[in-house]
Amino acid sequence: MKDRQFGRLRFICGENRGKYPFNHSLYIDGGDARVIVDPACSLEKLSRLRDKDSVDMVWLSHWHEDHFHYVNLFGDSPLWISERDFPPLTDIEIFLDWYGVKDDSHRDYWKKVMSDEFNYQPKSQARFIRDEEEIDLGQVKVQVIATPGHTPGHLSFFFPAEELLFLGDYDLTAFGPWYGDVASSIDETISSIRRLKEIPAKKWIACHEGGLFEENPGKNWDNYENIIYERERKILEFIKKPHTLKEISASWLIYGKPRKPLEFFEFNERVLVNKHLERLEKQGRIIRDKDQYRKV
Ligand SMILES: [Zn+2]
Repeated sequence: MKDRQFGRLRFICGENRGKYPFNHSLYIDGGDARVIVDPACSLEKLSRLRDKDSVDMVWLSHWHEDHFHYVNLFGDSPLWISERDFPPLTDIEIFLDWYGVKDDSHRDYWKKVMSDEFNYQPKSQARFIRDEEEIDLGQVKVQVIATPGHTPGHLSFFFPAEELLFLGDYDLTAFGPWYGDVASSIDETISSIRRLKEIPAKKWIACHEGGLFEENPGKNWDNYENIIYERERKILEFIKKPHTLKEISASWLIYGKPRKPLEFFEFNERVLVNKHLERLEKQGRIIRDKDQYRKV
């Protein structure tokens, strides 16, 4: 996979196909301002970009660490993000609360990871990007598309003249969408996927793995959404007999099998399952009796 230039827009592909902790980034030479969107592709590439092409501002599609990884390379450049996604960037305690990390020892572990590996430094200010805002960078116009679900303030960016759509973390991967944070929403994720699918683009950039689509992702859209229903189906099947969250998570219905590092993936499995259980309970499709869940 290679970096690609489309007019004034540049797809910068991330290390290891943009798999966590990396992503694919987008550089916009807007004429009046030059922007890096989600600076987490590669330390080397972003350092070179800063020194050779220059960067005036940093935009984040959302608050996750695999998108702001190298933001500190750009020093005092203004940071732009949705107001809804800014709180976790202001304080590591809020950051961990938003992930739902409760246990003290886990919090200590993640604090260290965030500061040592992701260069987490609390931010005190940002310019808030408004939902549906049209941003004129001089030579490039950007249509902001609010796509909540993955995170509450997740934003995608459409470039009408270039017919290019930056999807952010609606990444069309085979794993499927993430909605495991405290404020994530499965229903909003579904709406956002459907909305993005309807945008009249000719090129699509997703932040992980496949990354660049130069033809309509077509069936990828439906496959991606269907993974949500497939996860749900497996959970419902499993709780024909009553089970606790712990028991459901231990059967790895979402990841398929235990993955390492175990602490990381056990946590992910549990929070994703829990989101489904919350939604199914709200829909009246399952019953909770104390800590056990059962299909109606
Ligand atoms: Zn994310």
